[in-house]
Amino acid sequence: MPIYEFRCVPCGAEFERIILPRREDTSGAACPSCGGQQVERKISAFAVSSDATRSSNLAEGRKRAQKDLTEKRDADHQSYVDHVSEH
Ligand SMILES: [Zn+2]
Repeated sequence: MPIYEFRCVPCGAEFERIILPRREDTSGAACPSCGGQQVERKISAFAVSSDATRSSNLAEGRKRAQKDLTEKRDADHQSYVDHVSEH
């Protein structure tokens, strides 16, 4: 479920609202602090507070880092081989 972060323009209060796909507009996202509806959307994310999403993102990032590391090691090795064969 998409959770949007809002910031109230007049008072600066920040809050989150779950917005249903058919109600993408910010109507109904009134500031809980002052009740004003002059709010701006900060970020959009799919249920960032969900543990499942967070851990899967983490695993994905770790996998990517591991891949970068492997590629770097290969590149280092290749430049070493080039260096040795030159002399
Ligand atoms: Zn406010």
